[in-house]
Amino acid sequence: MKELIIISGKGGTGKTSVAASLVALAKKSVVADCDVDAADLHLVLAPQVKKVEDFSGGKSATIMSDRCNNCGKCYEICRFGAVSKDESKQPAYSIDPIACEGCGVCSYFCLQKAIAFEPTVNGQWYISDTPYGPLVHARLSIAAENSGKLVSLVRSQAKMLAEKEELPYIIVDGPPGIGCPVIASITGADAVLIITEPTVSGEHDLERVAELVRYFKIPTYLCINKFDLNLEKSKSIEEKAVASGINVIGRIHYDRAVTGAQVKRVPVVKFARCTVAKDLRDIWDRLVTELN
Ligand code: SF4
Ligand code: SF4
Repeated sequence: MKELIIISGKGGTGKTSVAASLVALAKKSVVADCDVDAADLHLVLAPQVKKVEDFSGGKSATIMSDRCNNCGKCYEICRFGAVSKDESKQPAYSIDPIACEGCGVCSYFCLQKAIAFEPTVNGQWYISDTPYGPLVHARLSIAAENSGKLVSLVRSQAKMLAEKEELPYIIVDGPPGIGCPVIASITGADAVLIITEPTVSGEHDLERVAELVRYFKIPTYLCINKFDLNLEKSKSIEEKAVASGINVIGRIHYDRAVTGAQVKRVPVVKFARCTVAKDLRDIWDRLVTELN
């Protein structure tokens, strides 16, 4: 079983479009949407949800008013300013669930045992059927953190499914950027595919992401989306990639069929026999050779 992670230095490079088409071409794969802050692979893969579970990324504190004696200790010791004081209320102290970092210090030091410190539900994760194989996806609640932990959970569920159903590939639509969720999505993967675009920001983001994957020593491939919009920039990005030890696996033309496929909510390789579909088929064929 091989796990391919598709990432980009930033959002809006067409990463999810590419991921959806590779999933459709792979035929036998488990798909994992690890872009948990802005999951949208489900918009293209038409999933039928089979299982929903809550995700708890940490704990948070709440004051039990019937036990609190208004000593003010929690207000004094919370380093995150999450405890507020309002003497017109009873109890005078309350905890803002958004500001609470879940450190547990207030609960530990409250002599009245008046602070409950319990797991919070930060989102949900799902296992769904799609026409192209099972999909593991998730939704993080608004303002919830710990997306790295949710990414790890989605990946581990995808791995279990691939083992159970004896599927040869796990294709992961990773988060954009270079932060904690990206690190959680590439650690221990078999290969990384970077999608970028021929722009100044695309080039800059490639440099950042290349530095990250170099650290993890994972075989890494590059594909420039809409490369023909700026041939000079595409060439310069590819040269930089090669110099960083990244293999250029292919180029994808700009093609209006991609927008048409998005409107119809299908992977572009299932939408039309167009140039971009051929580019994606060539890329998948090369990736299969590299992965096996
Ligand atoms: S430390 Fe406990 S008893 Fe004191 S104000 Fe806070 S919740 Fe109330
Ligand atoms: S758990 Fe930590 S961050 Fe949250 S209110 Fe208590 S001391 Fe503050």
